[in-house]
Amino acid sequence: MPNLRGYLTFRLVYGFFYLLSSRMKTYRIAVVPGDGIGHEIVPLGMRVVEAAAQKFGFAIETKSFGWGAGYYLQCGEFMAPTALDEMKAYDAIYFGSVGLPAVDDTLPAKDYTFKVRTHFQQYVNYRPVRTYPGVTSPLTKSPHLDFVIIRENTEGEFVQIGSQYLPDMPQGMGVDSSIFTRKGIERIAHYAFKLARKRRNKVTHITKSNTLIHSLTYWDRVIKEVAAQYPDVTHEQMYIDNCAATFVLRPEVFDVVLTTNLFGDILSDLGGAIMGSLGLGGSGNINPEKEFPSMFEPIHGSAPDIAGKSIANPLGQIWSAALMLEHLGEIEAAAAIINGMDATTAAGLLTRDLGGSSSSEDVTQAVIMSLVLQEVST
Ligand code: ATP
Repeated sequence: MPNLRGYLTFRLVYGFFYLLSSRMKTYRIAVVPGDGIGHEIVPLGMRVVEAAAQKFGFAIETKSFGWGAGYYLQCGEFMAPTALDEMKAYDAIYFGSVGLPAVDDTLPAKDYTFKVRTHFQQYVNYRPVRTYPGVTSPLTKSPHLDFVIIRENTEGEFVQIGSQYLPDMPQGMGVDSSIFTRKGIERIAHYAFKLARKRRNKVTHITKSNTLIHSLTYWDRVIKEVAAQYPDVTHEQMYIDNCAATFVLRPEVFDVVLTTNLFGDILSDLGGAIMGSLGLGGSGNINPEKEFPSMFEPIHGSAPDIAGKSIANPLGQIWSAALMLEHLGEIEAAAAIINGMDATTAAGLLTRDLGGSSSSEDVTQAVIMSLVLQEVST
């Protein structure tokens, strides 16, 4: 009899845990460390994701892919011909950065980053800028940064359509075309205005239509048409040169900054600099319709000058993990990671780029400790 009771108890407990695990939401994540510091900070970022999964009761399945400039040096291409098909099967891509000094600098964007962004219609590049507690900005006196750069991510100045004519001749020239389509402008503008409604209801769109009188007057015109559909959202237009100065002098005027591909590329490095370091910026290349996986990466490059020393700031990579979980619907887990990052910088655990002496691992471990110890709202 006691044996039967023991057996039944065992079946009950086993059944309970089986049910729990089979109901647990599982996300499939393609991990692409890339090159340079990507090999250090991407695994650290994934440790944070794993800790968040354990704490918030979801599961992750990962596969690591070796694409990048290192792969190019071995195989002659940045990624395998099947790479895009393989990555399509995942819920998200967690990416470091590609590029090495030994490899032609024009290849990483053309043969990896732009390919993924375009193929998976990741037309939104979401790049938030905020103040980290305990980090003093070297550039701005503004005490509280909190805005998002929304960069158009698949067209504009980066379509790479152009040519060089007679480059070795005295009359040689190089031409790059910019392409701005109604469809491309409308969809990014709608995303920006909808985002503003969830924030402080303001979109500042960045332009240079006083000199780029064809492409950017069209950009302005279509954005204004979209803006008219959001009468509750304040809409302003600003020239890129004025915008760069305003990032430093009065960043508090921004809520959602809507920019073209090139301007957004430049402005987001400035966004990193006003936060305190390029190493602090996270980002998402987002396909809002979720037809394809979105890709999450820090705003900085592969930083080969500091690779292998365990001094890279992992917070931009970790923030990208939080953005990935938010995109996947794990809102609480994402917020807990950000709280963990805040607690870490507030406690003075800073890497060398911020004037500290903590290693990449120390900072990550502190984020995980804080994450694990946070109370979960029920
Ligand atoms: P890309 O064009 O791919 O964005 P980049 O040429 O702008 O790359 P980065 O690799 O971003 O160059 O590096 C620029 C500078 O910022 C380098 O001095 C690098 O060491 C520093 N840096 C970049 N990322 C980090 C980080 N996570 N932590 C500390 N310093 C960093």
